Amino acid sequence: MSFAELGLTPEIQRAIEELGYTQPTPIQAAAIPKVLTGRDLLAAAQTGTGKTAAFMLPILERLKKFANSSASPAMHPVRALILSPTRELADQIAVNVAAYTKYLPIKHVVVFGGVNMDPQTEALRRGVEIVVATPGRLLDHVQQKSIHLNKVEMLVLDEADRMLDMGFINDIRKILSLLPKHRQTLLFSATFAPEIKKLAEDFMRTPELVQVARQNATNEQVEQHIYQVDAGRKRHLLSHLIKTRQMSQVIVFCRTKQGVDTLTRDLKRDGLSVEAIHGDKAQGVRLETLASFKSGDLRVLVATDVAARGLDVSDLPYVVNFELPNAPEDYVHRIGRTGRAGATGVAISLMGEDEGRQLEAIAKLTLQALKPEPVEGFWPSWVPRAKPAAEAAPAPVQAAAPAPARKSATNGAPRHPSANAAPVGTYGNSAGVAAGLAEPAPRRAIGRPGSRRREVSALLLPPRYKVESPRGGR
Ligand code: AMP
Repeated sequence: MSFAELGLTPEIQRAIEELGYTQPTPIQAAAIPKVLTGRDLLAAAQTGTGKTAAFMLPILERLKKFANSSASPAMHPVRALILSPTRELADQIAVNVAAYTKYLPIKHVVVFGGVNMDPQTEALRRGVEIVVATPGRLLDHVQQKSIHLNKVEMLVLDEADRMLDMGFINDIRKILSLLPKHRQTLLFSATFAPEIKKLAEDFMRTPELVQVARQNATNEQVEQHIYQVDAGRKRHLLSHLIKTRQMSQVIVFCRTKQGVDTLTRDLKRDGLSVEAIHGDKAQGVRLETLASFKSGDLRVLVATDVAARGLDVSDLPYVVNFELPNAPEDYVHRIGRTGRAGATGVAISLMGEDEGRQLEAIAKLTLQALKPEPVEGFWPSWVPRAKPAAEAAPAPVQAAAPAPARKSATNGAPRHPSANAAPVGTYGNSAGVAAGLAEPAPRRAIGRPGSRRREVSALLLPPRYKVESPRGGR
């Protein structure tokens, strides 16, 4: 199917051709005809599937009858409102709108917080057909009477799940109450939590449903790896992976702003070109950092989930989860930063001993069997190495060229006898530790001379106890 077959006007076709869009993505092919009919739409779309064009192109098609070059503000009332959870996503959508309207006299403006309101107010006063906004700043403009929403015919709630996660529900309900009842509402969400369904029931009229990918699915174009590693060595493994895998560009996700700052400092010390982005950074700095990442000047971007929301970098080859996210939906969003619009990508997650719960939640949500693996050279202290006899077991991931087996100073055995150790297939709790073993762990007697001796699994002992002493134990 072509864009022409979807019934898009030549001005829009010309603009998207210049962007290199040759044919509609599945979400576009499914959503565009439905939006053109004027019906409400509930769309489950993964990040990076082309969902912005899926709502924006038919909106423009429906707005083109109002296109005019008049200088009078009255000739340009706000007819389409696009709500986004974050400034970055709003900015990204506005960039797309600018490109799609290159050959149409339809005006737009983007309004978000953290920057001076005056230029936004000025643009709104001059009149615009399309407003892309974050909820809080939009309400500021409503209060200042710099925007009137009584002519809005089309509303888009983009990444609605994230808007709810970020606590925007009251703002959204308030905005919805300001809009004409007769309008078209389009709701896009990567995941459909019950609250989203409730919002749809309350504010949409028998919406059409479009679901091109399985709900909560991860992008199949993305190769996923879960590497087990001690928390304290994560940053070393990350540096190592960036260098040995020759990652040209990577976004690294951390759970907290502080985590982002610390990791950025550490990676800088390792000589990498890296910057941080999170909610405490000034908006100007955030946009500058994003611009230098998008242009390829910056190699590593360390970010929180919120800051990287909606970030669209074409051909981003790698995403790293420095920590697994607490909300499994964030995993889907995070790894959706790579493998966009049909490209392939790699998502690597560094999993510490205490992150088994998060991995289980991700596996359950995405219906995938995600197998954690140790990395040779960064073997986690909590994952036992199987005996060399475990021939059938798969080899661990080689973080670097495998080191030749060296002789141990103590007993003449290879220092890493388990180069073929079975990677542990469970999630790092104490039960999981035992689960990866070829044989039960040998037991050692410990205790001070004279005290009662007790037997514990050698695996549970600090390393010094595990070295075979000439006396066969203490
Ligand atoms: P989105 O999911 O809207 O963030 O889009 C992801 C990326 O795909 C953006 O860089 C879009 O410009 C690009 N894109 C959207 N539609 C198409 C298309 N039909 N063909 C090629 N690229 C597209």
